[in-house]
Amino acid sequence: MDGQSRWVFMTSGNATDRDWPALLRTVLGVPAPDLEVRSVLPWQAEMLVADRYSAGRVHLAGDAAHVMPPFAASGANTGIADAHDLGWKLAAVLAGTADPTLLDSYEAERRPAGWFVADQSARRTLDPGAAPDPDLAHPFVLAAGGFQYRTGALRRSPADEHDVEPVREFAPAGRVGTRVPHVWLDAARTRSTLDLGGPGWALVVADDPARWAPAAAKAPVPLPVRRIDADFLPPGQALLLRPDDVVAWRGGDESAPPRVLQELLRPERAVAGAPA
Ligand SMILES: Cc1cc2nc3c(=O)[nH]c(=O)nc-3n(C[C@H](O)[C@H](O)[C@H](O)COP(=O)(O)OP(=O)(O)OC[C@H]3O[C@@H](n4cnc5c(N)ncnc54)[C@H](O)[C@@H]3O)c2cc1C
Repeated sequence: MDGQSRWVFMTSGNATDRDWPALLRTVLGVPAPDLEVRSVLPWQAEMLVADRYSAGRVHLAGDAAHVMPPFAASGANTGIADAHDLGWKLAAVLAGTADPTLLDSYEAERRPAGWFVADQSARRTLDPGAAPDPDLAHPFVLAAGGFQYRTGALRRSPADEHDVEPVREFAPAGRVGTRVPHVWLDAARTRSTLDLGGPGWALVVADDPARWAPAAAKAPVPLPVRRIDADFLPPGQALLLRPDDVVAWRGGDESAPPRVLQELLRPERAVAGAPA
């Protein structure tokens, strides 16, 4: 479809042998003399999530890993988010800057996210029921990819354990395991916090970058220090931002980011205490 002369029309029911031109003219309410039906495709809304996303060198992404009833453009966006997660991990492993074990975090992060979005879409469309569903997420949480990874390529402190991203309200706050909240960085609105990560890592700080620079220089991969002014990042705190804009760590200890990066990218060497 092109939104100008080629369109899609969706209706319920399983019959495909209906008089489609007559039905469409009724729906449109105009004669539409040039109307031509190009194809009729049966389709059934379903919620299906693969039991595993990864097996050895094979990784599933997109509809191969999850299908869901259409809601809030979740279908394609969840697939794109899979690729965003898997892409930088594959690149790091292939470039030799991360151990292959980093790829284990793909399923750990994206399967719960795929299940969450598919379940939320299904609750709204497959069998919504008459009573309000107390577990419905705020639509912005779905539209903005507001799911929080609980395990994966991230490090949470004990304080982070209790600071859980809500789903019934949209309240992003730069919590570990979530996508960094969008805030414009300039008055002309040309740069956002979402531009800080990618294609590499970034250390996002709220105060003097010089305080963090010596530690960032010890990181096993390039780690630019970026200062921002945003409500969700109080002075003294920093966010370690992954290439896919997910917060991998947050805290005030400037010696932590290179150590955390080493643990996430090179866990075996970090355990052995080898230099970065
Ligand atoms: C009716 C309907 C409405 C939807 N509406 C929306 C919406 O409004 N917003 C939204 O975000 N999402 C929507 N979706 C979901 C969205 O279309 C999918 O989530 C998205 O297209 C999945 O992308 P994908 O690349 O993972 O898979 P696909 O788009 O299915 O791409 C897979 C490709 O692989 C090809 N392929 C398959 N087997 C092979 C093979 N052996 N060798 C080579 N190629 C192969 C296929 O031909 C296809 O081109 C809708 C889906 C449907 C069915």
